[in-house]
Amino acid sequence: MSDFSNSALELADSRPQNTAPTLDRIDITALKGVGKKLAEKLHKLDINNLQDMLFHLPLRYIDRTRVIPIGALQPNMSAVIEGEIQACDVVFGRRRSLMCRLQDDTGSLTLRFFHFTGSQKNNLIKGARLRCYGECRRGSSGLEIYHPEYERLELANELTLEQTLTPVYPSTDGITQQRLRALSEQVLSLLDSHSLHELLPEDLRRHLHQVPLIEALKYLHRPPANASVEQLLDGEHPYQQRLAFEELLAHNLSLLRSRANTQSEGAPALPFQQTMIDNFLSLLEFRLTSAQDRVSAEITNDLCKSIPMLRLVQGDVGSGKTVVAALAALQAIGNGFQAAIMAPTEILANQHHINFQRWFEPLGIKVGHLTGRLKVAAKREQLALIASGEAQMIVGTHALFQQGVVFADLALTIIDEQHRFGVHQRLSLRAKGDREALDSNSQESKQLHPHQLIMTATPIPRTLAMSAYADLDCSVIDELPPGRTPVTTVVISSERRQQIIARVNAACDEGRQAYWVCTLIEESEALEAQAAEATWEQLQQALPQINIGLIHGRLKSAEKQQIMQAFKAGELQLLVATTVIEVGVDVANASLMIIENPERLGLAQLHQLRGRVGRGSAASHCVLLYSAPLSHGSRERLNALRESSDGFVIAEKDLQLRGPGEVLGTRQTGDMQFKIADIQRDSHMLVSVKSTATMLLQQYPEQAHALIDRWLGSKDLYANV
Ligand code: ADP
Ligand code: MG
Repeated sequence: MSDFSNSALELADSRPQNTAPTLDRIDITALKGVGKKLAEKLHKLDINNLQDMLFHLPLRYIDRTRVIPIGALQPNMSAVIEGEIQACDVVFGRRRSLMCRLQDDTGSLTLRFFHFTGSQKNNLIKGARLRCYGECRRGSSGLEIYHPEYERLELANELTLEQTLTPVYPSTDGITQQRLRALSEQVLSLLDSHSLHELLPEDLRRHLHQVPLIEALKYLHRPPANASVEQLLDGEHPYQQRLAFEELLAHNLSLLRSRANTQSEGAPALPFQQTMIDNFLSLLEFRLTSAQDRVSAEITNDLCKSIPMLRLVQGDVGSGKTVVAALAALQAIGNGFQAAIMAPTEILANQHHINFQRWFEPLGIKVGHLTGRLKVAAKREQLALIASGEAQMIVGTHALFQQGVVFADLALTIIDEQHRFGVHQRLSLRAKGDREALDSNSQESKQLHPHQLIMTATPIPRTLAMSAYADLDCSVIDELPPGRTPVTTVVISSERRQQIIARVNAACDEGRQAYWVCTLIEESEALEAQAAEATWEQLQQALPQINIGLIHGRLKSAEKQQIMQAFKAGELQLLVATTVIEVGVDVANASLMIIENPERLGLAQLHQLRGRVGRGSAASHCVLLYSAPLSHGSRERLNALRESSDGFVIAEKDLQLRGPGEVLGTRQTGDMQFKIADIQRDSHMLVSVKSTATMLLQQYPEQAHALIDRWLGSKDLYANV
């Protein structure tokens, strides 16, 4: 990218010299008609000043610039139409209504009024000509418009055609579209006398072929009648792309800035602990793969520094992330600090607890654990161990970052299956290790943060990773431990359920173990548990000679643990489960998985589930037992799963089929709300967004901060990443 140092001057000069305050400095109450009450409602929409009003962009547009022939109308279309009344009658159906048949040269439709006055009825007479506006829908008489705005053409002419497309703004209770339009109208008219900062340096803007900001805003609030509504609705219009670019830029800047802030603060430096690591590795039941070795070295490097680490480890299911986390933890513990690992489910936390105890206790390291379902006494005991520092390694769930949990000296937080957590949750755990320290050089007090390691088996496609994580450091474990056999996946209709049950029987006879996973659409643990219970009973009847366990989210913690242990020990041959076993569960001898109604789950989730088998040397199978008929999309998803076992390929496919919202998980998309940008649609900009952000922050820090304020305002979630 070229050198923009000259344009700093140009930019300063190009700012209007008038003395009127810029729009971001004028409170929204300066507008006519905005009192305290309305201001409060606008505040809910994040509109506090006049600039905010301009960046409150239309969601869609209505075309009231021309009359549409009735014959060209489609359901859900909003349009202005004109025609002659053929008939008008009060009908007594389920609800009394006034129905008015309107016809033009191309067709006819029904205007329907559920509420109407006598004079309305007298006005809508056969032969009268009307101009109407409203949204068409499919009704009992064909196309209908309920409660249209209308006007007799021979009489007044209030329902005039508009000069521009009509914007429809995002709104909230108690603010009408008319209100929002009137307010934006006022602000638009102020643009001539008041300035709004163009925050992209002029050279850069031209270099990127972006239109000026003000031009784009004016256009998007009031597109001319000839604008392509279609292009606008798709968000592909160059003026929208200009703003989308700026918004993505602001998000990226916010990530970069917070990263820079954190890095300017410190972390405890944790030098490598050779002896301890050697001891650990000599006791470990396997040798690290070269990918685990490499990633572990990357982490070691980060931890040695007095800058807080923020590293994402991506590795497909079964690639062996846990042991990499353990190595990182040892580096903290060897230096006299605590390390904590947080898992999204209790089952997984328990499994980690067992593993870390097995690995660490021979080294004389005490492992504490904390989950929401601990009994009061046990919880009190654990909290004391954590607070005193006696527990050096702490394993837990969301319980770890709750109030009342105090760590003695937490220097490393590890988030497992991070896609199941929100940014705030990760930061809340980090905060447990924050502390003030005296800088040995300057003698000034300085904020210290723990290092953060975040792990995921849901590979994030590159494009998404770039915008969701900006400059986060990434490591990839791109190799599975040796001796794994790939899982063969088959897609079978539930009509062949009996056959599948016979197959489970045969597998168990051979000494193998199996999972039977029940899924539900509703996010209701109770219903899901019920469904699993019914299946469990059914399978027990069908397979009386097999030991069948049942596990679901409604069981008590101890019960869950007991069942998992029995399955691991081989006492149970078949485990009927809900998706609670989705993450992390590791039983090498299980080589068959049946997933009922897989069409209800996303690709990433299915891939995770399937990752529970194929962990040993026996050939493994996954049966996707769907209920016919399958929609086209579902079929495509299940086929993708059958054809690939590579998490990255599946993630890209998922992104293609479902879009970024679903792929990143609701948690994270909740964290990543855009006003106008759409990561998938605008992914072609991301490379340029990233390089522009880096340059801007270095050369134009003031503009960079202003951009963040403009687009994220108080919602700058990353203020403290
Ligand atoms: P994930 O990356 O899905 O979290 P885990 O850490 O649970 O994977 O590891 C899966 C299984 O592979 C565990 O049983 C673990 O002990 C085993 N494992 C991990 N690394 C190796 C290795 N290098 N060689 C053999 N087995 C390994
Ligand atoms: Mg894991």
